[in-house]
Amino acid sequence: MKSVAGSPDSAHLRGATPSCKGIWIPVFHKWYQSGSEGIEAVSQQMTNPTFEQTTARSRELYTRALHVLPAGVSYKNRFLEPYPFYVESAHGSKVVDLEGNQYTDYWCTHFSMILGHSHPKVRKALERQLKKGWNFGLVHELEVRHAELIKHLVPSAEMIRFSNSGTEANMYAVRLARTFTKRSLIGKFQGGWHGGYDALHCAIKPPFELLPSGGLTRGALKDTLVLPYNDLRGVRRIIGKKKLACVVVEPVLGAGGMIPAERGFLEGLRELCDETGALLVFDEVITGFRLGLGGGQAHFHVQPDLTVFGKIIGGGLPIGAIAGRQDIMERMDHTKYSGDKYCFQGGTGAANILTLVAGEATIQTLRDEPVYDKIDRLGETARTRLQEIFDRSSISARVTGIGSLFAIHFTKKKVVRDIKQFGEEHKRQSKRIFTFLLNNGIVMLVPEHLHAAISYSHSEDEIDALISLVEEYVKAQAL
Ligand code: PLP
Repeated sequence: MKSVAGSPDSAHLRGATPSCKGIWIPVFHKWYQSGSEGIEAVSQQMTNPTFEQTTARSRELYTRALHVLPAGVSYKNRFLEPYPFYVESAHGSKVVDLEGNQYTDYWCTHFSMILGHSHPKVRKALERQLKKGWNFGLVHELEVRHAELIKHLVPSAEMIRFSNSGTEANMYAVRLARTFTKRSLIGKFQGGWHGGYDALHCAIKPPFELLPSGGLTRGALKDTLVLPYNDLRGVRRIIGKKKLACVVVEPVLGAGGMIPAERGFLEGLRELCDETGALLVFDEVITGFRLGLGGGQAHFHVQPDLTVFGKIIGGGLPIGAIAGRQDIMERMDHTKYSGDKYCFQGGTGAANILTLVAGEATIQTLRDEPVYDKIDRLGETARTRLQEIFDRSSISARVTGIGSLFAIHFTKKKVVRDIKQFGEEHKRQSKRIFTFLLNNGIVMLVPEHLHAAISYSHSEDEIDALISLVEEYVKAQAL
C-alpha cells in the first residue's frame, strides 16, 4: 500500500493508559465487573507534516491550550491529531483558520448549520436583535412565536419547552416520562448518542459493556436498559414484561454512523410502547428539521409521545427543546401540578432570545427556500458516488445516511444496520482518510468515524471535489 499525503503511517504509540478497569458496567440491566482495558486504552499520537507546515499559529495556541483546557479542547470531538486548527471565521461552506487556510466544512457545527455558516438572513436577524439585548431572563414574544412555529410544522409537538442543549433536553425528557408514568426504567439503544446525561450515557460504541466515562454511578444507570437498534425482536425479548417509563430512540443513529431506522422498526417501537404503556421519545436533535420540516417523525410516518430537539432549531447556537403531547408536557406546569406529579425544567439560558432569533430565521429560510431539494440531492449524489468508488476498489466500505447526512463505515458487511462493526480496522481506515481529506482542505469529523452533513451553502463543485479526492485516495491505496 502506498502512503498518501499525511497518512498516519508515522504514528507512534504513546503507551497504554488504564481505562475503566474495575468499574461496574450495565449489560442489559445486569451488572458485571469489567476487567477490560477498553478500546481506547492505547492512544496514538500522530504526526502530519503537511498540516503542520501551514498551521504554526494553531500549534502555538494549542500548546497554550494544553495548560488551561484538558486535552486542549472544550469537547473531545474537536480534538484533532497532532493538534486542531483554530477557526478564525466561518462563512457558507467554509471555515478559515488563523493562517487563512480554508477548509470545506462537512461537520457544520455538529450538523447544526443547515444553511451554512453566517447565513445572511440569520446574521441580519441576529444583528437586529443585538441592538435590543441578548438574554433577558424574562419571557419574550419570540419564545411563544418559535414554539408556535415548531408546533405548526411538527404536529406531535403540541407543547414545547426550550432548554440549553440536546443533553439537557434529553435529561428533562426522561425526567418528564418518569414523572408522567411513575416508572423508573428507560430504554436506550446501542449506538444511540444523546449527549452526556448520565442515564443515557452508555452503550455508545462497541464494546457496549464499557462505560464511556468515569463518574457514572451504578445508581445513575441501573434503570437503563440497553436495546439493539433495528432489531425489534431483540427489543421485545429484552423488554419482555418490564414496565418502562420511556424508550428513547434516534430515528437515524447519528453519531452512531448515520444509520436510518429500517422499515417497520419505529412502527414496531410505537406498537410496543402502546402495548406496555411506555412513552416513545424520539431524539431528533440531528434529524429535527434536517430530514424536512417535519423531521424524522414525518419522514418515517411515526408519531412519538415526546420529541427532543436541538441544533437546527437554534440556528447553530446552543439549544435543546422537549416537545410533545399536551397531557404529558403539562406536567411541567407548576400551576397545575405539584409534588411528584410535577416535573421541573428551566435554566438561565432557556429560551434566550439570541438563540431563538437564529432558530426562527433558520426555520423560516428552510420553509421559504428550496433548501431540502438541494441538500438532499447533494447527499444522494455523495452517497451513491462514494459507494461506487469503494465498490470498484479493494477497500470494503459502506456509505450510510439519508437526506443530507452520510457516514463511511469500513466493513465487509453489505448492509450496515447498527454500529456493531465499529472496531480497530474501521478506526484505522477512517483516520487515514480523514487526514488525507484534511490535508486537502476538507473537514469531516470525527477522525475515527467519518460523518458528514451537507448545508445549503455547499455546491455541486464541492461535492465533486470531495468525491474526486476520495477516488484519488482509494487509487493510491491500490498502488
Ligand atoms: N442527541 C443527539 C441525537 C445528538 O446528536 C446530540 C449531539 O450531538 C445530543 C443529543 C446532545 O446535544 P448537545 O451536544 O447539544 O448536548
